[in-house]
Amino acid sequence: MVIKDKFNRPIKDLRISVIDRCNFRCPYCMPKEIYGERYQFLKNDQLLSFDEIITISEIFSKLGVEKLRITGGEPLLRKDLSLLIKDLKSIKSIKEIALTTNGFFLNKYALDLKQSGVDRLTVSLDSLNPETYKKLNGQNLDIEKTLEGLKFANSIGFENIKINCVVMKGVNEKQIIDLVNFGRENNLIIRFIEYMDVGTINGWKSDDVVYAEDILRIIEKKYELEAVDPNYFGEVATRYKFIDGMGEIGIISSVSKPFCADCTRARITADGNLYTCLFTNKGHDLKSVIREQSSKHLEDFIKNIWINRSDQYSQLRALGKTDKEKVEMYKIGG
Ligand code: SAM
Ligand code: SF4
Ligand code: SF4
Repeated sequence: MVIKDKFNRPIKDLRISVIDRCNFRCPYCMPKEIYGERYQFLKNDQLLSFDEIITISEIFSKLGVEKLRITGGEPLLRKDLSLLIKDLKSIKSIKEIALTTNGFFLNKYALDLKQSGVDRLTVSLDSLNPETYKKLNGQNLDIEKTLEGLKFANSIGFENIKINCVVMKGVNEKQIIDLVNFGRENNLIIRFIEYMDVGTINGWKSDDVVYAEDILRIIEKKYELEAVDPNYFGEVATRYKFIDGMGEIGIISSVSKPFCADCTRARITADGNLYTCLFTNKGHDLKSVIREQSSKHLEDFIKNIWINRSDQYSQLRALGKTDKEKVEMYKIGG
């Protein structure tokens, strides 16, 4: 059974945040001034247990979900993550498990991830410049470890790794071509993302956004590109391949060209709140339902939320009609 929402959108992808903590403090996501040493992150008993995540995923898979994305905070900080992935992999109708990471711990965990069944990796890398990288991770951390991790992941069989790069005006837009070249040389799919107004703490301004068409213009000055069809319904990136055959790039234009009409994604936070849009402040507490009621109850609860879903924030943003309160990105994982 595939359930559909008010705009006839099926539920296809589930993004599971397994932890709210992160070793980075990217200023656009977890500014260090706010997430300092005294910040109270979730305690262990507030996190969904692995069994709870599996039960929830099984229910979502019955309702239509075929793809899981593991995210965070930084998902590789969740203890024994590969054990969870192994069990998620055994859910029959799940066709793909992907994971989004900042890459810092890939050297340590890539092999476990591969062996447990992760199909695809997305690594966030906003800059190849060592100084910009240090600034953007907010912790003065060197880029070398992330680059080594990427190389290692590739060497053990992770192919077509995607790189997420959030492009911000005056910060890294001059480094776009370096990243493009890096992708071409290393068989990586670089995806440039318009800086989004997720959450409320990053002080987002539309002036900080480098729009998709400008990103494209910068790349086309150097390389000839050709648009490519999406890989599947609901793919967020617009794909382009290099005419010379050296791979492809993606551009995610969430601000300038909203794609709400094709949005098939649900997200759950590490403490079990279900969000049906990146830009909402309203989560639905699955953890209480799973801890207090039957799994049949949980299935009906989720079904009811999805069939009544009418989210289309980005479309409304374009019309200037949006709420101020929004969940923070590090809680729902992108
Ligand atoms: N920590 C992991 C990482 O960075 O890959 C996973 C979680 S992170 C929240 C997921 C993705 O969200 C990252 O690629 C990050 O760059 C992106 N992201 C965070 N805040 C964003 C924003 N305001 N606009 C666009 N992308 C954002
Ligand atoms: Fe951490 Fe990812 Fe957010 Fe950066 S974008 S602070 S790495 S959760
Ligand atoms: Fe989906 Fe909400 Fe983004 Fe629209 S704004 S594409 S509904 S997550």
